[in-house]
Amino acid sequence: MHVVYSPRYRIDIGPHVFPTRKYQLVHARLLETSVIQPRDVIEPDPAPWKDLALVHTRGYLAKMHDGTMSDEDIAQLELPWSPEMVEGFRTMVGGTIEAARRALAGRTIVAHIGGGLHHAFANHGEGFCPFNDVAVAVRVLQRERIERAAVIDLDVHHGNGTAFIFESDSRVFTFSMHQQHNYPMWKPRGSLDIGLADGTGDAEYLQALERALPTVMDSKPECLFYLAGADPYEDDQLGGLRLTRDGLRARDRLVIEQARASGLPLAIVLAGGYARNVDETVAIHAATIAEAARGGLE
Ligand SMILES: [Zn+2]
Repeated sequence: MHVVYSPRYRIDIGPHVFPTRKYQLVHARLLETSVIQPRDVIEPDPAPWKDLALVHTRGYLAKMHDGTMSDEDIAQLELPWSPEMVEGFRTMVGGTIEAARRALAGRTIVAHIGGGLHHAFANHGEGFCPFNDVAVAVRVLQRERIERAAVIDLDVHHGNGTAFIFESDSRVFTFSMHQQHNYPMWKPRGSLDIGLADGTGDAEYLQALERALPTVMDSKPECLFYLAGADPYEDDQLGGLRLTRDGLRARDRLVIEQARASGLPLAIVLAGGYARNVDETVAIHAATIAEAARGGLE
């Protein structure tokens, strides 16, 4: 069984609420618990700039490439610019492309210990997301072999960048279920948006998800992307929902079982996670991948 990961995802961004060490910790946890073996890990190459250009504007990519972002750009991205930052996130986009290609080729589930950068728009980055990895991967797959895809975004924050990028592309179904009163303020309309009230717990959340998944499947996707954010967790610093770890695991199971029942390839990416204790974020992400592995990953 395979997972995609690179140690380059641990990026020095100074003191920050975004723990980039979580990727390394999830990778280590999966090895320790024998969910994966060292030989199962695929290390991606950075996404070529021409692939990034399938989604992002030439002007934005030039600023990222050359380090000529304005103070406003940096403030919106909420990450300090450095060549290492750009290379780390470019590699992370490569990881999502790799996971999606392998999922499609094997008609299976492939997990990426990274990705889910759903706040990146075509012409700017924001909210810790320099490039929209899932959007780029969808465009790469469309270039190579598929027409239709669906994005199931269960991060606690609305998938604003992804929704806007695919706004006028009826071949890509974007589903986001998130906390309504949270960042981002402006939530461009996706194909299906469910904005939950503050404090929503397991039962209500799972019921809403169960009701929504058939609508996603009705869009007849050839490939699914799942953003398994750890930030709907009750002790998350940036989230206001109240899911327990068991609830998050049940959420993962619903999505994974839906993919299996439909015989659809599924690429899983991690997205956000800001628990006060980083070990909890790591445990939630590792549980998602363990859940996927239960039925066997390729
Ligand atoms: Zn988030």
